[in-house]
Amino acid sequence: MIAEVIVDVAAHPIDRPFDYAIPKHLEVLAEPGMRVKVPFGNRKVLGFITNLKETSEFDPARLKPVHELMDVVPVLNPEMLQMANWMKKQTVCFEIDALKVMIPAALRAKYEKRFVLNAPLEELPEPLRPHFKNKPFLRAQEAVELYALLKKEMVNGTIIADTDISQQTAVKKVKMVHITESLETLEAVDVRANAKQQLKLLAFFRKNVGRTIEASQLQKEAGVTLPTVYNLVEKGLATISNMESYRDPSLLSAIEKKGSLKLTDAQQTAFDAIEASLNKSKTFLLHGITGSGKTEIYLQTIDQVLKEGKEAIMLVPEISLTPQMTVRFKERFGDMVAVLHSGLSAGEKYDEWRKIQRHEVKVVVGARSAIFAPFENLGLIILDEEHESSYKQDDSPRYHARDMAIWRSEFHNCPVILGSATPSLESYARAQKGVYELLVLEQRAKNQPLPSVEIIDMREELRRGNRSMFSVQLADAIRERLERKEQVVLFLNKRGYSSFVLCRDCGLVMQCPNCDISLTYHRSSELMKCHYCGHDEPVPHTCPECTSEHIRFFGTGTQKVEEELAKVVPGARVLRMDVDTTRNKGAHEKILTAFGEGKADILLGTQMIAKGLDFPNITLVGVLSADTTLHLPDFRAAEKTYQLLTQVSGRAGRDKLPGSVFVQSYTPEHYAITLAKDQLYEPFYDQEMAMRRASGYPPYYYVVNIQFTHEDLMTAAGYAEQTVRYLTSQLSPNTLIIGPSASLIARVNNRYRYQCLIKYKKEPKLAEVMQQLIKIYRTEWIKKGATLSIDMNPTSV
Ligand code: ADP
Ligand code: ZN
Ligand code: ZN
Repeated sequence: MIAEVIVDVAAHPIDRPFDYAIPKHLEVLAEPGMRVKVPFGNRKVLGFITNLKETSEFDPARLKPVHELMDVVPVLNPEMLQMANWMKKQTVCFEIDALKVMIPAALRAKYEKRFVLNAPLEELPEPLRPHFKNKPFLRAQEAVELYALLKKEMVNGTIIADTDISQQTAVKKVKMVHITESLETLEAVDVRANAKQQLKLLAFFRKNVGRTIEASQLQKEAGVTLPTVYNLVEKGLATISNMESYRDPSLLSAIEKKGSLKLTDAQQTAFDAIEASLNKSKTFLLHGITGSGKTEIYLQTIDQVLKEGKEAIMLVPEISLTPQMTVRFKERFGDMVAVLHSGLSAGEKYDEWRKIQRHEVKVVVGARSAIFAPFENLGLIILDEEHESSYKQDDSPRYHARDMAIWRSEFHNCPVILGSATPSLESYARAQKGVYELLVLEQRAKNQPLPSVEIIDMREELRRGNRSMFSVQLADAIRERLERKEQVVLFLNKRGYSSFVLCRDCGLVMQCPNCDISLTYHRSSELMKCHYCGHDEPVPHTCPECTSEHIRFFGTGTQKVEEELAKVVPGARVLRMDVDTTRNKGAHEKILTAFGEGKADILLGTQMIAKGLDFPNITLVGVLSADTTLHLPDFRAAEKTYQLLTQVSGRAGRDKLPGSVFVQSYTPEHYAITLAKDQLYEPFYDQEMAMRRASGYPPYYYVVNIQFTHEDLMTAAGYAEQTVRYLTSQLSPNTLIIGPSASLIARVNNRYRYQCLIKYKKEPKLAEVMQQLIKIYRTEWIKKGATLSIDMNPTSV
C-alpha cells in the first residue's frame, strides 16, 4: 500500500503529495487524514496522508517507508481534505498550510504519542494486559505490534485513549482508584498495626468495596496521602488508572437553562424563511439593526437544527465573543456547546476540539477558525457580524471564513446565515442580485427607540477656543449621566490615535530604527515602542536631530484620554480597556464584569468595546473622533467608519433607559458620518457603491495584492517590477495592473516591502498565472532571500 503525503516542509518548490510506502504492520490502520512522520531528505517531518493507493508512478522498491503513524483516528475527515484542496486554489496557498490551519495548534506541535489506559487493567483484553501492567501508558514505539488491537479498544470503548504528549497538549488526566470488589481479599490482608495510615485506608476500602473514585477525592475522604494509596495498590487491593478529562475553560459552569422567547412578527418571518430551507444549500443575509433580535433567531434556528439531529456552527468576531454571548448559548444548549476563541490555552482548545470530533457537542460558538469544526452532519452555519474583517485570516492561508462557510454549506446541503446591522458591500450587492436571500429586521426586538445621535463639529469647538478632546456638549452630557448614576462608554479608535513623540523645534518624530513607522509612547513603562517589530527604547532627553529639549508626546492614547477625563469629571470611576489592560488572560472578562456590576461609571476603550456590550445602564456613548478610520488610506475607510459608528451607537439604550450618542468629528459632513447618524444603510450603500465603481474597487472589481519583501530595497522593487511585466504579458487587456509601488509601511523589521495590485472583473487565466508566479518564486526568488505574499481579495488596500 502506498500513501500520498503532503509534507510539512517550509516553501518547498514542489507543492504536491509525495509517495511513501506503508509498512505491512501499519496497513490495516492507515487512513487518509492521519498525520504521519516521514523521512524527508535527512530529516523526519510531519505530513498528512491525503490518499491511499495500490500503485505509484515511481519504483515501489525505492519508495521510502512511512516512519510512524501519529493518529489512530484521522484528524482530518474526507470533507476537510477536499476543502483544503479547494482552499489552496482559492487563496493560492500551499496545501500544507491549508491542512494545518484546520486542526488545533496542539496537534501541529512536537509530540510524543502515547496510549493511555483509561480503565482498570482487568477490563483490558488479555493480550494487552502485560504491556500495561504497572504503567498507565504505552509509548508509540513500544506499541507498534499492538496497533491493531489498541485501535480496536479505542474505537470500541473508552478503555484506551491516544494522546499527544507535549508541553502544551498533554491531555489532562485524573488518577482513578478502583477498589477491589472482593471483601474477602480486603479482610484477609495483612497490615501491620503500626501502619496507621494504611489501616485507616483499609477501613475506608472495606466500606467502599468495588467503588471507583478519583485519587484526589479518595485522599480527601479517607484522610490519607497518595503513597498510602500506592501501598495498598501494591498489595493488590486496588488498581490505579488514568482517566482522560477535559479542562474547563469557562468560568461559567453552573448556568441555568433558559427557554426561547416568543418571536416578534418580523423575527418570525425571517425564522420561517430559514426553517423552510434547512435542508438546502442556501445563503441568507439577515440585515437587522443592532438589538433587532438576530441572536434570538440564531438560537431558535439552531434549536431546530438540533431537533433534526444535526449540528451547527456559530461564528462571531473574536472581540464579540464576550462572556455574555457565551452565557446566552450555554443557557439555551447547556453542555452541547463548545466554545473556541483565542483566549483559551492550546490545551483547552484541543479539549474543545476533541469534544467536537467525538460528537460530544452539537454546537460550536467560536471565532474564525471554528469554521473548521469537524462536524460530520452539519445543519447550519452562522456568521454574526459578517462584515468584520477578522473573518479573513491575514497570513497564509489567507482564507475568508465566509467562503469556507458557503463551501461547507454546499457539501452538507445546509443553509448559511450572514447576519449584520451593517452588511459588507460585497454581501449586500449579492443579496441585491438575488445570490443571497435578504431578510430584514427594521425594529429593535423590545421596541426601544434607536438612540438619538448627535454629531459635534470639533472645528466649531476650536473656534470657540476649546482645545480639549472633549467638546463642551460631551463633557456636560457625561457629568449629567454620572449625576443620574447611569453609565457612560467612551470610544476612541486606536489606529491613528497612538501617542507619538515629537520634537517641537525641528518637528522630528521618533521613528523605529527597523521600520518606517513612528514609535508609540507608553506612559506606564516610560518607553517608546514599535508595534510592528517590538523594538523599544527610552524617551530621549534631547532631540537626536537638533538637540532641543522640547520633546513632547503627541496624539491621544487611551492613557492620555484617561488623564483628560479626570479633569472633565474629577473623581469619576473609570475602567480602561485597550491592548495594555487586557494583556492577561481573563482581563477582558474581568473589566466587563466589573463594569456590568456597576463598579465604574465610565468605560473607556478602543474597538474592543465596540461590540457585544449589552448593559442596561449605559445611556451615553461618546465617540471621541469619528475621523480616525475615515482617513485611513484604504478603500474601505468609509465603510469601516459607517460600521463602527453604527456598532458603537448600538451600545446605548439597550434596555428601558433611552440612549444618546455623541459623535465628535472634524469632518462632520462626510456621508459615512451623517448617514450612520440615523442608520440609513441603503443610502449609504448607494453612495459608497458609486464611489467604488468610480475608483474600480470591490465589489465591482476583484483585487489581488502581491507583495515582496527583501533586505535590499532595489531587490524587492526589482521583483515587483518583474512581476508587473509578467502579469501584463499574461493577463487580459481589461485587467488593471497597478504598481509596482512601495507598500504603505515601506519597511518592517529592516525588510523593504514592495507591492503591486491586480484589479479584474473576469480573468480566466488568473489561477494559472498565480501558480506560475509561485513557481518562479519558489525556484528562484526565495533562494535570494525574498518573501512573496499573494492576497486574493484583501480586506484592505
Ligand atoms: P441582535 O443580535 O440583533 O443585536 P438580540 O437578539 O441580542 O439582537 O436582541 C436584543 C435584545 O432583545 C436582547 O436583550 C434580547 O433578549 C431581546 N429580544 C430578542 N428577541 C426578543 C423577543 N422576541 N422578545 C423579547 N425580547 C427579545
Ligand atoms: Zn529636534
Ligand atoms: Zn519596528
